[in-house]
Amino acid sequence: MSEVTVETSSERLRMALPLMAKNKVPVTPENYWVWYQYISGENLELKETIDRLLAQNKPVDEVISQALFRRYIEAADHAVLSKAEGSIRKLVDGMSSSLQSADSEVSRYEASLDECFEELSDDMSADHMKNLIRALTESTKRMHEGSASLHTHLEQSREEVKLLKQELRHAKTMAKTDPMTGLANRVGFKESLDELRSQQDAESVRHSLLIADIDKFKNVNDTYGHVFGDKIIKVVANALDNLAKGKDIVARFGGEEFIVVLPETGIKGGLTVSESIRKNIESGRIYNPKTKQEIERMTISIGVTEFNINEQIEAVIERADAALYRAKEGGRNRV
Ligand code: GH3
Ligand code: MG
Ligand code: MG
Repeated sequence: MSEVTVETSSERLRMALPLMAKNKVPVTPENYWVWYQYISGENLELKETIDRLLAQNKPVDEVISQALFRRYIEAADHAVLSKAEGSIRKLVDGMSSSLQSADSEVSRYEASLDECFEELSDDMSADHMKNLIRALTESTKRMHEGSASLHTHLEQSREEVKLLKQELRHAKTMAKTDPMTGLANRVGFKESLDELRSQQDAESVRHSLLIADIDKFKNVNDTYGHVFGDKIIKVVANALDNLAKGKDIVARFGGEEFIVVLPETGIKGGLTVSESIRKNIESGRIYNPKTKQEIERMTISIGVTEFNINEQIEAVIERADAALYRAKEGGRNRV
C-alpha cells in the first residue's frame, strides 16, 4: 500500500466533503471512507461505479453510499484475504510437487545404481565398464540439477510465503481497524470481546462497558469545519487509548462515539474510570486553527453499565446507550 501523507489525505478530504454535501450524504466514517476512496482513485471499481451514476445524473445518496461501502470496501477487504490465502495454498502445492519430483529423481537414481550393480561382474569388458560409468555419471548429473532447482524453488517460495504472510497480516489488521483513529472498529471490538469471553466465561465476574459521545460535536463541524472535527475525534480517540490499561478494549463505534470495555471491573470501578476519562477530556486545551486562540472546552458524556460475559452484547450496549442519553439530558459533560 502506498504511503499517504497528511497533506494528501487532507486534500482528499477537502475534495470529498463538498461532493458528499452535494449528494446529501451524512459524514459517517463509512460514507466518508467511500468518498475518500473515490477521490483517491485507488479503488477503481468504486470510482467507475460512482462516475457512471453521476454521469447518468443518478443520486449517490446515503443509501447508495452505504451499499457502495459494503460492495467495494468491506467486500474488497475479504477479497484481499482470500486472494492471499489462495496464493499461499498454490505455493505450498508447488513446493510439494517439486519435492515429489525430487523424490522420483532419487528413486530413479537408486534404480540405475541397482542396475549397474547387477551388471558388474569380474570378467566385464573395458567398453562395457565405460558405458556403465557413463550411465552413472549422467544419472548423478540429473540428480544434481534436480536438487539445485529444488533448492532455488524452495528459496523463492520461502520469500514469497514471507511476503504473503505480511500482506495477510496487514489485511487482517485493516479489516478490524478504524482507518481514521487506528482504534478497533466494530469488527475488532467483537473480536476482542470474543477473546475476553474465551479467557473468562464465569457469569459471576462483572465487567463494565462505557459509551462515550462527544458533546455538541455538530457545532465543532459547523464552526471550524470537518477537517478540524476529524482532528478532535483523533485527539479524543488518542486520549481514550492512552487511558486504557492492559486488557481494556477501546473501539470507535460510530462518528464521534467510542466504546470501552473494562474487564473484571464492576460498576463501581466503571464509574470511577468513566469519571477520570471525562475529567481528562475536559482538561484538554483546544486552539482555534486560524486565530490560535483557545476555544471552549471539548467535553464528553459517558453512559456506563456492568455486565457478565454471557449477556447479549446488543442488550448491554442498549443499556449503556440509555445511560448516555440520561447524561446528555442531565446537561452533558457527565457520567
Ligand atoms: P450531542 O451532545 O447530543 O451528542 O450533540 P452532537 O452535536 O454531538 O450530536 P450528534 O451526536 O447527533 O452529532 C454527531 C455529529 O458528528 C454528526 C456528524 O456530522 C458528525 N460526524 C460523525 N462522524 C464524523 C467524522 O468522522 N468526522 C467529522 N468531522 N464529523 C463527524
Ligand atoms: Mg455527540
Ligand atoms: Mg453521537
